[in-house]
Amino acid sequence: MNSSERALEGKRVIVTGGSRGIGNEIVRQCLSSGADVYYMSRSEAADHADLSELAASNGRQVTWIAADMADEQSVSSAVKQVLDTAGGVDVLVNNAGITRDGLIMRMKTEDWEDVLKVNLTGAFIACRAVTRAMAKARGGAIINISSVVGITGNAGQTNYSAAKAGLIGFSKSLARELASRTVRVNVVAPGFINTDMTSVLSDEIRASISGSIPLGRIGEAKEIAEVVTFLASDRASYITGQVLAVDGGMTM
Ligand code: NAP
Repeated sequence: MNSSERALEGKRVIVTGGSRGIGNEIVRQCLSSGADVYYMSRSEAADHADLSELAASNGRQVTWIAADMADEQSVSSAVKQVLDTAGGVDVLVNNAGITRDGLIMRMKTEDWEDVLKVNLTGAFIACRAVTRAMAKARGGAIINISSVVGITGNAGQTNYSAAKAGLIGFSKSLARELASRTVRVNVVAPGFINTDMTSVLSDEIRASISGSIPLGRIGEAKEIAEVVTFLASDRASYITGQVLAVDGGMTM
């Protein structure tokens, strides 16, 4: 789908973790598709001025709201701020995520809890904060960003895999709860994508990962954003409760 078709014309979109990486690309594609975007992260995007220019050139607005997904009060009040100023919300993308990798024998309880808090509980709080407004409006789309490791598991990532698998069960249950109100809930499960999160990997590991991907390469953030924008739009009006792996064929 081409974002120039403005598939999200006039929609109010929240993206958590829009300051960098995949979230930043989702913000960009939503703006190009005609949406007003509110992104939440602890720090403002380094390219915020660029995002504002993109928004203006599309006749839309982009707003950064400082929020920490590990803090219930912070997430709830950030979402409330959007509901109060925009009068509602049409799309929520739960993208913010962290890793604290390590083998279980050495994993600190804090590393387990931090990952669950940001990646799973944060998404739950954001969803809970928007559902009343979406249900009342009888329409909305929620897209939760999981990971292929939530499907396949990965040594050294028990905390992250648990959170990402949890997000899948959570999303399917929420999809069933909200379907009668025409609120769709879907999951995108990226494979390995070029962002800050994966830049820590050595060249050797990157080469070995690429070799295990049927399409033979690591993916780009815009390839995830493309799918998220589609699922957010009315073009996906008959899709709910699904997990879409965007992973170059890793999990086929
Ligand atoms: P990234 O480049 O590290 O960016 C993470 C984003 O999340 C940033 O905008 C960051 O903003 C925000 N964030 C982190 N902790 C936060 C907190 N406590 N509160 C609010 N925002 C927070 O990561 P990415 O690679 O783009 O990943 C985006 C999503 O895709 C994550 O859920 C990740 O698990 C998932 N994913 C990524 C890959 C991959 O290969 N890259 C693969 C599968 C799934 P601040 O630091 O400013 O708060």
